[in-house]
Amino acid sequence: MQALVVDDSAVYRKLIGDHLRSWDFGVTLAETGSEAWQILEQKDAPKLVLLDWVLPDLEGIDLCRRIRKGGSSRPYVYVILLTSNEGRQNMLDAMQAGADDFLVKPFDELELKARLLVGKRILDLQDELVSARESMRHAATHDSLTGLLNRGEIINMLLRELERARRERKPVGVVLGDIDHFKSVNDTLGHLFGDEALREIGRRLRAQLRVYDGVGRYGGEEFLMVLPNCDLPHALARANALREIVGSTPMVCSGEERLITMSMGVAISACTGKNELETLLNQADAGLYAAKDNGRNRIEHFPSAAKKAPSARARKS
Ligand code: GH3
Ligand code: MG
Ligand code: MG
Repeated sequence: MQALVVDDSAVYRKLIGDHLRSWDFGVTLAETGSEAWQILEQKDAPKLVLLDWVLPDLEGIDLCRRIRKGGSSRPYVYVILLTSNEGRQNMLDAMQAGADDFLVKPFDELELKARLLVGKRILDLQDELVSARESMRHAATHDSLTGLLNRGEIINMLLRELERARRERKPVGVVLGDIDHFKSVNDTLGHLFGDEALREIGRRLRAQLRVYDGVGRYGGEEFLMVLPNCDLPHALARANALREIVGSTPMVCSGEERLITMSMGVAISACTGKNELETLLNQADAGLYAAKDNGRNRIEHFPSAAKKAPSARARKS
């Protein structure tokens, strides 16, 4: 673990630095409060800070307050304030400024080590909490089988993109894809093959998209693609490329292989704002229905699809 030692005294910097290194801490040194602040502002800055109270520019206690002002958006920094002033009021002031611990100079080497171990334990716990929160966030927004965004999250992305499209007057393309005859894939090759095919299709779709496009698992064997800043000709070309990347090479799993195709419905936002999400999804769904009706392994755009097949019913979900 990396520790930042902030002290204007060269003697103390060396003393504390040497101890820390001998206890397997990495050491960064700073002589002034502003130098320390610059270091703490950097990415991957040390999270354990030994901070002298009296510094030439900024008081250690003020730097401590500044660190705490960052709030919970930053990784937690554990601060041990060092001072030559004994006294309960000082200790209280330090804690109120946000220090985690307080040590009076000159200090005993073992006492310093004990305090550092507590700091390290708290920072380790903090890291575990952050990674648990991250994995919960990931689980709440992603589909566990394919690792793609889940239905709620791809719809959230579409909502955000529609809002942006309205402001910037740029179209958003939506592609709704559904695997053809997937029931028969499961029935003939088994559910595990079907699961692996879903994962592989997710990978192929993701690989074909731009970084700022979105793809999510919309339902069992349905995928929703969101293409920001994409007009109709481009959306059609992109949907065709997506269809081809899925259907051009067989899916292989446990020695079995099968060519699996997808049908897709394409719709483009009109930037009107009124019920746009629902309208777009209904249009993409109607396009998908027409693609199934017209032979599968193809794309159809709504409303062109509606003109070709005016009697198209609402597709079964
Ligand atoms: P169509 O071309 O009309 O879309 O035919 P289909 O067989 O794909 O459509 P249908 O709606 O009849 O069947 C969808 C199948 O997708 C049935 C269901 O078991 C399968 N499926 C849905 N989710 C999963 C999953 O997570 N894993 C596997 N292996 N299969 C799934
Ligand atoms: Mg299907
Ligand atoms: Mg389906």
